[in-house]
Amino acid sequence: MVSENLGSIYKELGATPIINAIGSVTMLGGSTPIPEVREAMALAGDSYIPLMELEEKAGAAIADMVGIPAAYITSGAGSALTLAAAAVMAGENDNLIEQLPDTTGMKNEILIQKRQRYWYDRCLEASGAKLVEFGSEEGTSADDLQNAINEKTAAVHFYMVEQEHDPNALSLEKTIQIAHDNDLPVLVDAAGQIYPLDLFGKYVKMGADFQCIAAKYMGASQSTGLAFGSEEMIRKISKQSFVGYEGRRIRGIGRPHKVDRQEMVGVVAAVKNWMTINHEERLADIENRSQKFINTLSDIPGISTTMINNIIGHQPFGVELRIDETITGMSAQKLVETLKEGDPPIWTRVRDGDDYIAIHMFGLKVGEEEIVAERIKELFI
Ligand SMILES: *Cc1c(COP(=O)(O)O)cnc(C)c1O
Repeated sequence: MVSENLGSIYKELGATPIINAIGSVTMLGGSTPIPEVREAMALAGDSYIPLMELEEKAGAAIADMVGIPAAYITSGAGSALTLAAAAVMAGENDNLIEQLPDTTGMKNEILIQKRQRYWYDRCLEASGAKLVEFGSEEGTSADDLQNAINEKTAAVHFYMVEQEHDPNALSLEKTIQIAHDNDLPVLVDAAGQIYPLDLFGKYVKMGADFQCIAAKYMGASQSTGLAFGSEEMIRKISKQSFVGYEGRRIRGIGRPHKVDRQEMVGVVAAVKNWMTINHEERLADIENRSQKFINTLSDIPGISTTMINNIIGHQPFGVELRIDETITGMSAQKLVETLKEGDPPIWTRVRDGDDYIAIHMFGLKVGEEEIVAERIKELFI
């Protein structure tokens, strides 16, 4: 429910809390921790626990729930990518583990389809790996991948977005087949591929050696994420992690990627919740709230709304809000700025390349969608 003293802990610092109508974005906080996660995190502070053991037990519990060989909790999906890239280069060789990010003498190239370059591929490079593109803007063929493989290739990366199927990309099936024929591991960024539940862990089940998940999308702290993979791959990742650094006294690159015990049990609680909640109810609720938002803004000249029907991935439904400037005298960008100047500030955005504001319920507390819709309505009537 919407509380009167929204974000008082931030106001004490002179910082201004906002209403987040954009969705799961890192710079605004990324996630709403669910009650199960908050409770687990509070309980974890009661005692100390060797973190090497907790990583192992928590990872095993998660792997068991998801039905995959192994899992590891990281400080975000971004960290999982960095640790995985280090793992495919250094393996279990302690000398190489301590040498990174200097990759001299190692296989250090990670192949990526040119048309799959994306915001987070930089996280792979933080290990010292070099990204090498294959294919073109127009498309990628099996030969493009086969021809790109050389003696420096350490892995092939794949960016998976099931809700935006790309027919011109080389498929993951083909990628796995060619990579494995060449004895190369496949890394998959599937950070948001958590629904329908058969997507959750799907790529490791298909044969990929690694996939990451962003726990921010499941109601855990946004500073947490997951590596899923083969037992061998997860063992290599554990050797790069901060607990490997402290516990084994072998200094991998993961020391700054610390995860605390509260966060670890929080991720376990988030996965448990995700595997057991009634997703039909979850979706119906978000669809209803999106529909309410649309209803409030119907019949305003120059404003049109469309339901976003996607339910795949981490952020279902939502509303595309379009503004005809010739009728309203206000552009979408101007509306974004005006909402930000209100009290409390409401954050929305027009993404690069879009001509509409995408509103998502993900970061809105129940009832806040009405506040946002009413605030917009007031500006135009
Ligand atoms: C959010 C996201 C990440 C980064 O995840 P963090 O947990 O924030 O580090 C990586 N890849 C994709 C596709 C994402 O959506």
